[in-house]
Amino acid sequence: MNRLPCKLKFRLLLWGVLGLMLFGSDGVWVYTPAESDTDSSPFALVGETFSDGTFNAKRAFAYLEKQCEFGPRVPGTTAHQETGVYLFAELEKYADEVVFQPFEFRHQDKTIQMNNILARFGEDSGGTMLLAAHWDTRPFADRDPNPANRDTPILGANDGASGVAVLLEIARVLKSKPPPTQVIIILFDGEDYGRTVSTMFQGSTYFAQNMGKWKADFGILLDMVGDRTLALPMERYSWEAARDLTEAIWRRAEELGLPAFQRRLGPAIMDDHLPLIRSGVPTINIIDFDYPYWHTVEDTPDKCSAESLDIVGRLVLAIIYSGL
Ligand SMILES: [Zn+2]
Repeated sequence: MNRLPCKLKFRLLLWGVLGLMLFGSDGVWVYTPAESDTDSSPFALVGETFSDGTFNAKRAFAYLEKQCEFGPRVPGTTAHQETGVYLFAELEKYADEVVFQPFEFRHQDKTIQMNNILARFGEDSGGTMLLAAHWDTRPFADRDPNPANRDTPILGANDGASGVAVLLEIARVLKSKPPPTQVIIILFDGEDYGRTVSTMFQGSTYFAQNMGKWKADFGILLDMVGDRTLALPMERYSWEAARDLTEAIWRRAEELGLPAFQRRLGPAIMDDHLPLIRSGVPTINIIDFDYPYWHTVEDTPDKCSAESLDIVGRLVLAIIYSGL
């Protein structure tokens, strides 16, 4: 974590770059710094109250839609930078500590600046749980049925925004009801950047090699958890790396009456959990890979639902507050 002192410098740089866009233009979201922010979230649900410790599905879905309003969040673009500032500011409202973890990705003749976003909640009282999702989106819809779309960036409502949406809402809940153990939320950058496996998972790979004080005892990764028809079998790499932990999570889902979690073995999926597993943090991937809009221009909010986010959010909160 030797790069973290760059936090302030980086934020100032971002503010400089984004200042004109964030302030004053018609139709552009205006950010209010957290220090003076009572609840000026652009989608604050006026008149609605939130009970402590409870996941609010409507709010989680608003987080999904909000990310998509920025457009595709492709590293190196303005929309990506704007989204990074927004996610940082949201987490800053709720977490005890938030930092950017910047890193450079060199690909062909380009150098692209990327940032993981790390947030800490609660005190380390003998255990730390990591929750993760990726906040970038794929630069090209290479699985689109229409060849004309295959170089178009995807919106990533499910592939990216859904996991982040659940974690932002969990962050809000953690502020309202502090967790009994330390929780770290990490939003990885550069998960979906490359065309090949060697150019994907950039943020998780960098983090896994630079964890420092952010190292957790175990982790849960959320990816593609917004599908309207949610089906979550046990992901095979997770099960192979940490069988007891995987089965305990799915058993807890069954106890909670969440049948979308299916206690059967699903496919093995390469994802951000693998670098963490290799670095000694057993991490379970909760993912619905049976999604016909995966890496197509049709990965849009209407293919997702608040109910699906709710199912996953409720399970994760149950694990945080009651353990496994
Ligand atoms: Zn993807």
